[in-house]
Amino acid sequence: MLYTLNDAGYQAFIVGGAVRDLLLEKTPKDFDVATDATPEQVKAEFRRARIIGRRFRIVHVTMGREIIEVSTFRSSNTDSLQIKGERLARNIRHIDSAHSNSGMILRDNVYGTLEEDVDRRDFTVNALYYTVQNFLVHDYVNGMEDLKQRQLKMIGDPEQRYREDPVRILRALRLSAKLKFDIEANTAAPIKPLAHLLELIPAARLFDEILKLFFTGNSLETYQSLCRHEVFKYLFPASVAEVETNPAAGKLLDLAFTSTDRRIAELKSVNPAFLLAAILWPALQKEYHRNLSGKMPPMVAMHQATQSVISNQINQIAIPKRFSIPMREIWEFQLRLGKRRRAKALVSHKRFRAAYDFVLLREQTGEDLQGLGQWWTDFQAADDEQREQMLNGNRKGNQHSKSSKRRVKSSGKRESGS
Ligand code: ATP
Ligand code: MG
Repeated sequence: MLYTLNDAGYQAFIVGGAVRDLLLEKTPKDFDVATDATPEQVKAEFRRARIIGRRFRIVHVTMGREIIEVSTFRSSNTDSLQIKGERLARNIRHIDSAHSNSGMILRDNVYGTLEEDVDRRDFTVNALYYTVQNFLVHDYVNGMEDLKQRQLKMIGDPEQRYREDPVRILRALRLSAKLKFDIEANTAAPIKPLAHLLELIPAARLFDEILKLFFTGNSLETYQSLCRHEVFKYLFPASVAEVETNPAAGKLLDLAFTSTDRRIAELKSVNPAFLLAAILWPALQKEYHRNLSGKMPPMVAMHQATQSVISNQINQIAIPKRFSIPMREIWEFQLRLGKRRRAKALVSHKRFRAAYDFVLLREQTGEDLQGLGQWWTDFQAADDEQREQMLNGNRKGNQHSKSSKRRVKSSGKRESGS
């Protein structure tokens, strides 16, 4: 790509995480190219290229199975328009660069020089430009030295840079966990005081960031860092209240992050719905028990709680339906799995596996589900005849539990049907 662009008379560099990771002898996740060609000019040079993005217009060029992001040099252009009112500002579409009155960049398509492009990047180690002309890495901000020191240092004034784009707070914590880099003191200092600015970020963009925070193999460390810097509460406010007061809730999240990282390390698939269901489980439990003590039947109480927890959460982070629907199913299954006489139907449900794993996760935190996980483990391993026996044996068990169910209802503590 660099040769093609150079041959057409443009400057072109690999920049960002790919250069950084290669220098650290890691395999880059993706490649970004920076050039002085405009998106239209880039598109003209490649057969499989399309211009995307509104906040930033970039070109996606497909090469083999790889998609390479090509962006035109931009200036950060901080003295451009000031607009009153965040919400109003977000709706303005006809200008190429816009800042809100808190200094946040709303759109940023003002093209610039290479030097200006350097200044709009976040950390010095992310602003190394590799060129095939003499095979050099251009370093204008002492990024090589910071790479050797293993530190993330913000380019420019950290406070102003976080104000321009509060997502940089998440990037600092994510990259320091991923690279095992320190965050340089001046870069770290404004994080806590400015974390509240994350509330201004559009919920859809935050969801994309959440995927990067928690599904690239370092979720536990990232989560711990988010808590240490008091940032997590701006992402999952309802969970934080529970995690801080209830050790079992904290343990559930730790275990969920640990197992997500382990699965990624083993190259197994991870379903964001499962982890998100775990993160919000403590908040859900609280709501569920509140509903139960308001005399709602368990299924209704659970259903209402899932609705309310999700609808509160998506104000902050837009969870797409393809994840929120399975999250609800996993939660509602926690009650359904207690109804063992329906075991045969449940076990073949597409959400069974995730829901069963979720039961095991809860049991690992020390929650007493009266052997529910083991029962389902045995049931899955059993042949038809053994399953019949388990269910018949269980029928007695169910009769026995009927009277205890009444007791449970009045205490409102335990889940039904177990
Ligand atoms: P990863 O390894 O996760 O891909 P990355 O640093 O490459 O990390 P990308 O999101 O791929 O992250 O971004 C590529 C580059 O674009 C960054 O290295 C940085 O130079 C620049 N960049 C991305 N997001 C921002 C931002 N919010 N503010 C400033 N620069 C950014
Ligand atoms: Mg990258």
